[in-house]
Amino acid sequence: MPNILIIEDETSILLGLEDALTAEGYDIFSARDGEQGLKFALQEKLDLVILDIMLPKMSGFEVLKQIRQKDKTLPIIILTAKGQEIDKVKGFELGADDYVTKPFGVKELIARTRAVLKRSHRVSFALANYLLEGIHFDFKAWRAVKNGKTLDFSVRELELLNFLITRKGEVVSRSHILETIWGYDLDNAPTTRTIDNYIVKLRHKIEKYPGKPRHIFTVHGKGYRFEE
Ligand code: CA
Repeated sequence: MPNILIIEDETSILLGLEDALTAEGYDIFSARDGEQGLKFALQEKLDLVILDIMLPKMSGFEVLKQIRQKDKTLPIIILTAKGQEIDKVKGFELGADDYVTKPFGVKELIARTRAVLKRSHRVSFALANYLLEGIHFDFKAWRAVKNGKTLDFSVRELELLNFLITRKGEVVSRSHILETIWGYDLDNAPTTRTIDNYIVKLRHKIEKYPGKPRHIFTVHGKGYRFEE
């Protein structure tokens, strides 16, 4: 069964999660501060990390950042406090896969855990390499290189680009993208604006004139279309 690491300093939440996830059949590791959590995350063979943001010794953001420097695909769900919308945004920017807002129900967290685990195994990217505007995209290593220099693309941006390229010439809807790449239960989706923001970022990175795109087109009221 999948190995899950919970990094959480509040004992009641930690024990509640341990019990509930063990009952679901998952193997649980736990850490009560950021430093210990990061150490476990980098040492153990894990399938998922549940990461609190407010932690002693090292914040959840720092832990997330450092995990991502070493492991770009380990699924991570962050726990954010109610009213801290900014945490959610920052968490996604740093590469979190999903978030749950405290206080949360254990059932909700289990559902998110399942969805994230399922997605991490389900989404397979058939396209391994692609050359566009002089940029070599390596979708196995999740890297983009131009003139020997690695460019700053997040894995999520590359997943989105891969998804669009493999559907070259087709219109793909925002909800299809969100469901496949982010794997949200659409009832709980943050907003499809997320996609639009990612598209803007991608255009700035691949288009010669981001304001007049030649590769990623907006199809009004429908979604996006990639053209070579
Ligand atoms: Ca905490």
